[in-house]
Amino acid sequence: MKALVKERPGPGLSLLDIERPQIKNPDDVLFKVEYCGICVGEVKVYDWSEWAASDSTLELPTVLGHEVAAVVAEVGSGVADFKPGDRITVDVFINCGRCYQCRTGHSNVCANREIYGKRRGSYAEYAVLPERVLCKVPDDISMEEVALLPTGEPGCGGTRRRASAPRPGRCGGSHWLPAYRNYGSSNLGGSKGECCLNRYG
Ligand SMILES: [Zn+2]
Ligand SMILES: [Zn+2]
Repeated sequence: MKALVKERPGPGLSLLDIERPQIKNPDDVLFKVEYCGICVGEVKVYDWSEWAASDSTLELPTVLGHEVAAVVAEVGSGVADFKPGDRITVDVFINCGRCYQCRTGHSNVCANREIYGKRRGSYAEYAVLPERVLCKVPDDISMEEVALLPTGEPGCGGTRRRASAPRPGRCGGSHWLPAYRNYGSSNLGGSKGECCLNRYG
């Protein structure tokens, strides 16, 4: 498959043919990327700014890209909540699901947090992530809009925490849909936010 890879320090990206990622763990989900936003972080990594050069969370080589709108292609044997064809976005803060914070419903401050796009990413035809960091999106949001949703995540975190209680070990960052629905965006305000409503009530 084609992927945009940051191969080494210095300006630029490489368009490469790399192996399609595979499902390895029972909770893995393989998804086909439809859109992926260009965040200022990716621009800085592309330019190889001082900020990027001193970012200790960035591990090269890596596929960049974290603001993703995708469709589920295949699921691992233990995946309960997703099936091929589901439209999804991702929690850019990949929680481990195992540490104390994750087990007590505070995966937003996971002790082993990985930032999506720093060691693996979605500037590619396909990507794999565990189901706990995926979020289903309603049919009435276009895929272009879905790719914007992860950008709202940090600002909406506090809103989500006030609005509803998270369920331990589940998609800790998919709180922006109910946040938009309850407090914000007229475009997204009428959406159902299915997954998040199910998860956060
Ligand atoms: Zn971003
Ligand atoms: Zn954790």
